[in-house]
This record gives sequence, C-alpha cells and structure tokens, in this order.
Amino acid sequence: MSFTAETPIDEIASLDKKLLKNLTKIGYKSVNDLLSHYPKRYENRKQFNEFPYEPTESPICFRGEVIDSSRKFYGRRRFFEALINDSDGAGINQITLRWFNMVFIHKMIMVGQNVVVYGKVKKSGKRLIIDHPEFEIVDASNTNASIHLGRITPIYPLSSGISQRPLREALFNIVENLEETGFPKILPPNNLVDIPRIKAIRAIHFPSSENEMAEARRALACEEFFVLQLNVAYRKAQHNALPGSPNCGSGKLLSKLLSSLPFEMTDAQSRCVDEIRSDLASTKPMNRLLQGDVGSGKTLVAVCAILLALESGSEAALMAPTQILAEQHHAVLSQWLEPLGINVGLCTAKKKTGSDLPLFDQNSPRVIVGTHALLYDSSNSENLGLVIIDEQHKFGVNQRQKLINKGSCPDVLVMTATPIPRTLTLTVYGDLDVSVIDELPPGRGKIKTYVRQSKKHLSDSVAFLKTKLQEGRQAYIVYPLIEDSEKIKVGSVEGEFEKWSENLSPFKCELLHGRISPDEKDSIMDRFRVGDTSVLISTTVIEVGVDVPNATLMYVFDAERFGLAQLHQLRGRIGRGQHNSYCVLMTGKLTSEAKEKLKVLEQSSDGFVIAEADLKLRGPGELLGKAQSGIDRLKLGDLITETELVRETRSLSSSLIESDPNLNNPENLYLKNLIMFDGDNDGVVA
Ligand code: ADP
Ligand code: MG
Repeated sequence: MSFTAETPIDEIASLDKKLLKNLTKIGYKSVNDLLSHYPKRYENRKQFNEFPYEPTESPICFRGEVIDSSRKFYGRRRFFEALINDSDGAGINQITLRWFNMVFIHKMIMVGQNVVVYGKVKKSGKRLIIDHPEFEIVDASNTNASIHLGRITPIYPLSSGISQRPLREALFNIVENLEETGFPKILPPNNLVDIPRIKAIRAIHFPSSENEMAEARRALACEEFFVLQLNVAYRKAQHNALPGSPNCGSGKLLSKLLSSLPFEMTDAQSRCVDEIRSDLASTKPMNRLLQGDVGSGKTLVAVCAILLALESGSEAALMAPTQILAEQHHAVLSQWLEPLGINVGLCTAKKKTGSDLPLFDQNSPRVIVGTHALLYDSSNSENLGLVIIDEQHKFGVNQRQKLINKGSCPDVLVMTATPIPRTLTLTVYGDLDVSVIDELPPGRGKIKTYVRQSKKHLSDSVAFLKTKLQEGRQAYIVYPLIEDSEKIKVGSVEGEFEKWSENLSPFKCELLHGRISPDEKDSIMDRFRVGDTSVLISTTVIEVGVDVPNATLMYVFDAERFGLAQLHQLRGRIGRGQHNSYCVLMTGKLTSEAKEKLKVLEQSSDGFVIAEADLKLRGPGELLGKAQSGIDRLKLGDLITETELVRETRSLSSSLIESDPNLNNPENLYLKNLIMFDGDNDGVVA
C-alpha cells in the first residue's frame, strides 16, 4: 500500500490499533496530519556521545545497560532510580537515572536491558545523576532495530497514550511508502529551496544527514510561510474585487461632535480619521487596521468613522470581545451621539435593545454595539455600510467575516491595542491597510511602574495604597486566578478578597472575575465607575478597554505569570486621568530572566517596545492570537528569526495571486485547498 497526503489514517493496515485510536483522539485524520507531526529533535544514533564520567553542560545522548532497577523510595518525596553502566566499555562508570513522583517508571525498566539515554548529567555527592532523562529501551524488539538505531533518529513530541517507538515505526512505514505523485508541489518555482517536496517530507522524519535535515526543514518552513501569506494575498485580492460604494457623508455631524467635545483630537487621531474618510469615500470597500496603544483614543476615531457613514445613509455596527467593553462602548457612543439625535443600540448575550426587533431594521437603531452575540442575530442589512471590530485579535477570521456578511460589502475597520512590528503586520495582516495612532492625548498623568517582591514590600505597598485611597483615588488589585488552586501556587481573587476588605476598611472593595454573571459584573463596574467602590480585586477581565480616570493605582500580584503585552494592557487601565498613576508589579520568587522581563515595563511605556520584547520572549502566537492569525499552522517556520525566508515567500505568494487571483489555473488548483478560514473559535477569548 502506498500513501498520499489525503489517505485516511484508518486505512493504514499496518497502523497499531491503539495508536490509531489515540491519534484519532488528538484529531489526526489523514496521512498529512501524521506527516506534519514533526520531530521535536533528533538523536544521532550512528554516533552516540561517550558514556559520561563527569557532569555535562548540556544534554547528551548515550547508550548503557541497566544493572539495577530496584531502587524505589516512598518517603516524603517519592522517587525511583535505575542504575546503568557502560555496556561496551569496562563497566566502571555508572550513572543513576532518577525520577521523582514517577515511580511507575520502574515497570518499564529491567536489569540487562540496553537503553538509549538523553539528558544532562550532574554530580550529586559522589554519584553522577540524570534527573528525568528521556530514555528508550532498545533491545526489546529487535525486529525494528534499524528504524530506531544506527541512524539520525527522530524524537517526536508525545501526548497521552502515544509513545515514541510505535509512533516512529508508523511514520517510518508511511515515509517508506509515499506515493510519488501524492504530494503536489506547493511552492512555485523559486531559488529558495532545491529539494523536491516529497524528499523533504521524508527527510524531515528520517534524514540521512544533518545537512539533509536542515535542508528539509528549510523547505517545509518556506512552504508554511508561503501558504500563510498566500492566504493573506488571496483575501486581499478577494476584497479588492468586491463591488463597493462610497459611504461617506459631508462631515457636518462629525464637526458638530468634535466641537461638542471638551478636548481636541490629537494630530495622530486626525490623520487616522482622514485616512478612514478617504477609504469611505472611495468605491472600493475599506479594509483597515487601526493600531493605537492603550489610551490613545481609538474609540473616538471609530465614532468619527461611524458618523461619516451614518451621514451617507448607512448603518454601522461595532463589535467588542467582552460584555463589559461592549457596554462601555455603548455608554460612550450614546453620550456622544444621542445629542446629535442618533440612537445607539446594544446587543449582547444578555440584552438586545428593542428585543423583539431584528437588529437591522428600519425601526431599530442605526448604530449597533455588541459582543459576538451580534453574530448570532439572524437579521442582515443591505444598509450595513460600516463594520468596526475592536480588539480584533480576539476574534477569528470567520467571526469577522460573519459580521461583514451581514452587510453587502461594507467598509471594515478593525482595531487593536497591540502594536505589531511592521514586518509581522505585513505577513499576518497584509490584506489590511494600516493606520497608527502614535501619540497619546495630552494632559495625562504619568504612570510610574515598579517591580517589587511581595514578601519584602507588601506592607510598604499597602501603606502607600492607603494614602492614595485617602486622597480619593481608586485602585485595581489583580491576581492570576479566580480561586486558589492545589496545583499552581499563585494568588487568587477569592483567596485574597477577605484580607483586602478587612485591611483596607473603611474603603469598599469588590470582587470581579469571569465567572460572575454579566448582570452582576455590570453593577460592579458601575459602582466602581461612580466611585462607590474604591478597590476592585479582579482577574484580568479588566484587561480590555475599561476606562475609569480616577483609578490611578494598580497592583498586579504574581506579575511574572503574565506576558509583557498583557501587563502593558492591564496597566493601560490606569493613567487615564490628570493624576499621576502607579503600577506595582508584585512578584514571587524571581528568576533573573523574569526580572529582566519585568524591567522592560519599568523602563518603557511604549507599546511598540514592549510588543517587540514580548515577541522575542514568547513568540508571535501570544501576541496575535494563534488560531486567529493563522500562525498556528507554522509548525517549523519562525516568523521572528527567519525574516529573509518570510520576505522571499511573501513575494512568491503575491506574484502568484497577482497572476491568478482566484487560483483557477490548473497548476494552482491544489493551492486552493490550502486557502481556508480557520481560527473560528466561537468562544471568545476574554
Ligand atoms: P483606547 O485607544 O485604549 O481604546 P479610548 O478610546 O478608550 O482609548 O480613549 C481613552 C480615553 O481618552 C477616553 O476617556 C477618551 O474619551 C479620551 N480621549 C480620546 N481622545 C482624546 C483626546 N484627543 N484628548 C483627550 N482625551 C481623549
Ligand atoms: Mg479601546
């Protein structure tokens, strides 16, 4: 039997039934799914490291023979030890392999067995020890020895019920029996890669040399980058082909609003509004990303766009990722627009104004604000001319598209507070035009940020908090968890609430987290907004968009648990009024890495700087949303370090789409399968 990319795995006769079951469980269906289960590393089992006789700086891979497997300890710390020596040598050197809390491992290891061991050797007293090594018994089944030994051997990432040797054997069998024509080429002619696709697929699993492995990796990474950017280029071409209509009023309403506001727009805001205005005026539908750091005033820019669209007779919809945020937008928009005679509707899971009316209807509001509940309303409107999506990385492409489809080719504005470096924007959002609000409104108090160890500085910090509360300010106190957990030793809002309430009395504290019902959340936020409550003890549900200018203090506990960009967003909840603000990042025990990381926040309040640092630390997935941006499909390619390949493959994808926008040429048909909208996780990340 030979295999193509599409062969279902349950048709592979030789596949172990238990393995098949477990592969199915993790969602694998086709040979292609299995083939893109890439090794996490390789062991050169043609040339093992020497049996170690001293500690090593990094992990090594060597062979040995088990000489004792009886050492089980069930004391306060349960552990198991196996002793191995050098089977080929004189047997003088011995290494102890040790596993804590995994005593079951003793069932897998027996005296006399040959093992391949991978790990870092350390000295403990007189002994050489490897804690939690990776290992493989290599003489249990001699039949397949040639798959596992005497080659550069792939080591796969494993998950429950899937173990190394059966998986490797399955992949070996597949790779040996690939149908030559079953893997149509993906990359157009290029000078980046000169290994045929099928050869690369074989070599990424069972390379004949380090060189071949590197070449294969590069080829497949290029494919990934190409496909990602092909999707972007395709979307862009599809969008550009849409019939749009001008959607821009004279701007009278807009001038009216602006002259009614107690402040002037910043230059950056005006520039963005101008860019949007010319998009609206053009016949091509707008497809624009508005980037602006927290507090830069994206809402006002959105409202300007809405007014221009309304004035031309269109309707507008604004979608936000959380209930709190949708309601806040609704309140702000109502406050600004009602004086102009414009009614603003609200649609969340909880409420829909004019609830028996369809959303878009002659009698219903012409501006509607909502959460993803908007998507499940069945009404459409020919007249929906402008769609705005706030915090767009919280939504999948499909969700965006669903809202867009409610109109007919509306203008689209997506907004994000996560500044993204330009190269990445091109790769992931290359289908969008970009406007940046690169300036904060004037007259803001400064935010000072401090990193403090909870143990040492808690009482000082509390004293400081009290003086500020006395002065009339309000505070957020943030913990990572809702309730205390056995597994993770970090603070929780429920665990700490009582203490704070007592400690800060008579100032009123309230609890806020994601499990509180939307109604209750609303009233909590309202009481905080009007100042009845002084302190919110909260999880990160306050992360996005909440605007209470009098709240000038934020304490984040176990701050090292959070990503930099997330902390920056959280910090953006303060510093919104004229008073100085203080953000204190309280930490547990800090590694020097964590210290370095948090220092970035002490030193910078520039979202771009912080986003860059975060990208380097955690990769783009955290920042952009993995599924939402499509980068979950990058299994090999690294967007941050392989910029050259990213650029080259971008030009390949854009010239291909330029010559065949709908991928209808016979030689490109296969590529059409690779165009998909995934990231449709309807559960909103909040
Ligand atoms: P974000 O970009 O984080 O969504 P918002 O739109 O919530 O920011 O704006 C933050 C605050 O700044 C709001 O209270 C808003 O009314 C105010 N604001 C917006 N633009 C200006 C401006 N040009 N001058 C002063 N304040 C402004
Ligand atoms: Mg906002």
